[in-house]
Amino acid sequence: MTDIHKLLIIGSGPAGWTAAIYAARANLEPVCYIGVPRQDPAPVLPGGQLMLTTEVENYPGFPEGVTGPEMMSLFQQQAERFGTTVIGEDIVTCDFSKRPFTMTSSGGDTVKAEAVIIATGATANWLGQENELRLATSGGGVSACAVCDGALPLFRDQPLAVVGGGDSAMEEASYLTKFGSTVYIIHRRDEFRASKAMQQRIFDAPNAEVLWNKTVVEVLGDEKISGVRLEDTVTGEQSTLDVKGLFIAIGHTPATKFLAGSGIALDDKGYVRLEGGGSETNIEGVFAAGDVADAVYRQAITAAGMGCRAALDAERWLAE
Ligand code: NAP
Repeated sequence: MTDIHKLLIIGSGPAGWTAAIYAARANLEPVCYIGVPRQDPAPVLPGGQLMLTTEVENYPGFPEGVTGPEMMSLFQQQAERFGTTVIGEDIVTCDFSKRPFTMTSSGGDTVKAEAVIIATGATANWLGQENELRLATSGGGVSACAVCDGALPLFRDQPLAVVGGGDSAMEEASYLTKFGSTVYIIHRRDEFRASKAMQQRIFDAPNAEVLWNKTVVEVLGDEKISGVRLEDTVTGEQSTLDVKGLFIAIGHTPATKFLAGSGIALDDKGYVRLEGGGSETNIEGVFAAGDVADAVYRQAITAAGMGCRAALDAERWLAE
């Protein structure tokens, strides 16, 4: 007969591991499904977005900085130290219609649990070019998070570019104007979809310049990015722009496909909808934490905080 776990955690980024640490210390004997590595088009790895991040300098407690993979390894070690069971598989289907909840794993196992925390994160969307992804994973000056990487020395007083026309692109570009010599915003149309107030910040910044109707057709550079080749979406004309940093801000995709048919309510962008200001979802006993339920902040520290809340909420709910 299949064991019934008290608490199943799906996902292994800062939210999942923090939930595991709290739950394990509360004797909930959590089982954490950490996922299977895959390519989509950038690598998607157990540990999440931080596995693609070189230096993390804004997580408190690491005054000298820490690499993303090292930080996730430390989180995992801490969760395991208190007895978290770690399983290197994905959860591929969920039935939350009755308790105990029933799921299936990528290995074909049936998995049952009394409570579940969804912490599968969201992946940054990429343009999908080979050199873009290579330089993003090697610390070559291509990133999907200006708040995480923008302050690094390699970007100081250098020409930088942001791709996108939404609120994230405006926010990232605005942040980068503090560090870069010029910040180019490369957008494929002739108007932004960002809110007017966010757009105005860019129009007002003396060192920001918008390149309308342009797409990046090639990322140039060997060890570090040296520039991008642009194509005009109206005339088809190509040009080269020298930049030492490229920030992709074309949206994120929450990892919620496996929840299809589970009954979990998602918002119009596919993020898990939280109820009542905590970590509860629309299904009692199922909680969510981290970027899978947060389209706005998307930071390791905010995800970790949400993981802590989800574990405390699950503990309280199981006790009741
Ligand atoms: P978004 O609103 O979906 O915008 C994505 C942008 O990327 C769009 O301008 C889109 O162009 C462009 N894009 C998409 N695919 C592309 C491709 N392959 N090549 C080139 N450009 C591409 O995403 P977001 O900016 O990350 O925002 C997500 C949500 O979070 C929004 O609801 C936003 O309001 C919210 N948010 C709020 C704040 C804030 O209030 N402080 C900050 C960040 C995000 P098109 O316009 O041509 O489609």
